[in-house]
Amino acid sequence: MTQYAIYPMDVINISQRYKSTHLAWDICGTSTSPASWKAPCNLRLLKTYNFGRQENYYESGHEIGPYNTAMFGTCDANGNKAPVMCEDGQMRVLTFALTHMNGSDFAAFGFNTFVYEEANPVVYTQGTVCYKEGICGWFSNGSRIQQHIHMEVAEGWQFSKYTGSGGQFIMHENINPCDIFTRYAYQSAGGSNGTNGYTFKIVSSGSYPASTTPLVKLHTSSHTAALRKLPSTGADYHLIIPTYSEADILSFRKGFESDGYQWAFVKYTTGGNQVYYGYVQLDPNGYIFLSANESYHYNTTPLFLINPSQSRQPAIRTSAVTGSPQYTLAYESADSTHHYRIMEFLPGFESDGYQWVRVIKDNETAVNGYVQLDLMNWVYISANIQVS
Ligand SMILES: [Zn+2]
Repeated sequence: MTQYAIYPMDVINISQRYKSTHLAWDICGTSTSPASWKAPCNLRLLKTYNFGRQENYYESGHEIGPYNTAMFGTCDANGNKAPVMCEDGQMRVLTFALTHMNGSDFAAFGFNTFVYEEANPVVYTQGTVCYKEGICGWFSNGSRIQQHIHMEVAEGWQFSKYTGSGGQFIMHENINPCDIFTRYAYQSAGGSNGTNGYTFKIVSSGSYPASTTPLVKLHTSSHTAALRKLPSTGADYHLIIPTYSEADILSFRKGFESDGYQWAFVKYTTGGNQVYYGYVQLDPNGYIFLSANESYHYNTTPLFLINPSQSRQPAIRTSAVTGSPQYTLAYESADSTHHYRIMEFLPGFESDGYQWVRVIKDNETAVNGYVQLDLMNWVYISANIQVS
């Protein structure tokens, strides 16, 4: 069961935004006692740092405070690496790194003695308290920075931090938390900072309502695919998926990346049963989509939407390739309530070298037919994300 990443504190009070000099959020409760950080989704403890800098740690004559860090990776109920559904509709494998808990609380969680062992997962189920605030740092006027947690988010499972170019001690693949968290209705903004300009969609359950069955597969029909850690041609890759292999597509990135391609987040299982999560560039000439869910019909929940680019909108034809053009796949913004739904992925490539899909417009069902799946020039696919 896929889960949402729920905002980790009962009240949303973000005292420091993400910026180049602070690649994290500082988040707080609303009282002087340490508020709890609750697992946004199932998490596995990956790494702890006890720097020996506790609440009585002094530097240049100031009491600075604790720098204890714990790092948690998204997982399933058994502690296996698993992606989480993020607020922007993307599925990601993530690591959360939390800093500043008091030494006594840090010890009480057992973090001082923690050593990661592959066979012995330490799992916190969604909603479980697994970290607390601490008092650390100074404002320029000399007053202490009160209870907070310095929270970093990174793509993938991370087992270490490093000193970045700006001197910040950060995780690799560090990302802005702004698109990650949904919230429950009761988690309103509070304290002196509130949401600090960020917005949060509301969900009624921590579980993502979609089926966990892979909905569509990627078949490397013509050439190999690099399974990358981030959706970018310059990113490191986990491995190369060989030709004639299949990967489960878990979500489609919205729109085109800077390389001009749409990317997908996929799960790939090797012949040796090793599971990898990562990103694949959707090369319309190299890969085919296979509809994995045979029972998919218009009457059931629509699974995939197709969106043309603003500048180029393809014809909807009466049949693939040679059918006469009857409609135009008109541009609808990602937030539009009207969508073209993919009814079917036609198998393989047609004579024009492209895969085709059958589509229908949801508010105008007469508008239906076949569209060339030119993922570089015409269109991109998005999953239908049911965030209320
Ligand atoms: Zn901070």
